Amino acid sequence: MDIAVIGGGASGLMAAIAAKNRDTRVTIYERGARVGRKILATGNGRCNMTNMLANEGNYYGREPSFVRGAIRRFWVRETLDFFSELGILWKEERDGKVYPYSDTASSVLDVLRRRVDALGIITQCSSDVKAVRKKGHKFLITFYSGKTAEADRVILATGGRAAPSLGSAGGGYPILEAFGHKITELAPSLVQIKTDADAVRALKGIKLNGRLTIGDRSETGEVLFTDYGLSGPPVFSLSAVLGRNKYAELDIMPEYSYEDVLMMLEARCAYLSDAELAEYFTGMLNKRIGQAVLKTAGAAPLSRTASELTGRELKKIASVIKAWRFNIRGTMSWNNAQVTKGGAETAQFDPVTMQSKLVRGLYVCGELLDIDGDCGGYNLQWAWSSGYLAGTAAGSVKHEGR
Ligand SMILES: Cc1cc2nc3c(=O)[nH]c(=O)nc-3n(C[C@H](O)[C@H](O)[C@H](O)COP(=O)(O)OP(=O)(O)OC[C@H]3O[C@@H](n4cnc5c(N)ncnc54)[C@H](O)[C@@H]3O)c2cc1C
Repeated sequence: MDIAVIGGGASGLMAAIAAKNRDTRVTIYERGARVGRKILATGNGRCNMTNMLANEGNYYGREPSFVRGAIRRFWVRETLDFFSELGILWKEERDGKVYPYSDTASSVLDVLRRRVDALGIITQCSSDVKAVRKKGHKFLITFYSGKTAEADRVILATGGRAAPSLGSAGGGYPILEAFGHKITELAPSLVQIKTDADAVRALKGIKLNGRLTIGDRSETGEVLFTDYGLSGPPVFSLSAVLGRNKYAELDIMPEYSYEDVLMMLEARCAYLSDAELAEYFTGMLNKRIGQAVLKTAGAAPLSRTASELTGRELKKIASVIKAWRFNIRGTMSWNNAQVTKGGAETAQFDPVTMQSKLVRGLYVCGELLDIDGDCGGYNLQWAWSSGYLAGTAAGSVKHEGR
């Protein structure tokens, strides 16, 4: 039985390995010059390969419960066993994030490639698939080069639209649509957030440990001000749940309560009474941050002295420190995004086999589906799990999709 895996990324490599057995010939068709380019870029080159805490609540889409099939059959423990068997020594870091002990993403790709070769899986790079159609019991695959290939089963693992320079430019969507599959609205996720530029331009380059809240979700960590808005791990995480929220609130002193901050501000007024407001935050906050806080709280001009601050102004300043509001003006583009929000509608696929309910023998896995995860190893986990399920089902001779 010939199985074609279209796309040699995380989910495609896993699917190909899982699909290979005595009865199958597996070929990976990859449009790039090499497989797994995106894996090398993950986790800042360290590959945050999964997360010990991964569960259904970390995933989004029209139907996040679609991940349950994977959670039951091949989830974090099974993934780590799989990689251990391939030779990966892994380590768990903060918040359940798992990395290879070598701290290099290339070791994850290396062991996958070695297994692909050892199993005799054929890899055809520079093979950009244009279309797939059913011809009797077979699939006919057409490449942009004009070449064609046939297969008994097809696993579509072409990724989404995020980070197109790493290979995934959205080529899988029209292939699926031609079979009658629906694609939900697509948007960049795990990406920087644009705010009113005037509110942040003067703060460009400043990093602080803050607690960012959007809607009913909060994340604490390093927030970076840029000339267009906000960046950093909490921003990436919350970009996954932006929805229709119009603003983000940043707590720049998350270790302290509002009352603590107010008391601190009052005490400073007493012992820095002669200091100009321009110096009021010296020793407490970054200078540019302090001045922006005062401006946002309406406490200008900065030539006033600290003793002139009224009780009402101090409360306003404490409020800005604890919940600094930034209007959301969208996100940065696909080039900056780590994942795609939206994709192939999951209701049209079986959550255990990843097989299309419309086309027998057609399987889909990874980011191409309408499932996206939080920042922290969750998206690769989905790629590994869905790839494993698709590969195992496609490679099973008894499987009804034949
Ligand atoms: C910079 C960056 C850092 C990231 N870091 C992490 C991280 O640390 N942890 C984490 O969990 N997630 C991370 N992610 C997200 C994660 O990498 C992806 O969600 C995951 O790789 C998706 O796997 P996939 O197999 O579905 O798609 P991809 O990995 O995108 O693979 C798709 C493959 O299909 C090929 N292809 C596309 N169209 C065609 C076609 N028509 N014909 C043939 N081949 C085609 C592409 O060239 C590509 O090789 C990161 C993403 C980026 C961009």
